[in-house]
Amino acid sequence: MTDVHQCPHCELRFVSRNELSDHMALEHPRAVDDDTAELDDQQQRGTQR
Ligand SMILES: [Zn+2]
Repeated sequence: MTDVHQCPHCELRFVSRNELSDHMALEHPRAVDDDTAELDDQQQRGTQR
C-alpha cells in the first residue's frame, strides 16, 4: 500500500500528510486555502513580520 500525498501545486510528493501541509505552507503560502486567502492577505499586510 503506497499512501503518497502529492502537492497539488507542484510535483513533489510526501509520505505523510503533515509533511505535505508543511511544504504547502512554506512553498505555496497563498494557494493553500482559497477561503482564507483574501483574509490572510489583508492581515499579513497589516502585520508584517
Ligand atoms: Zn508544492
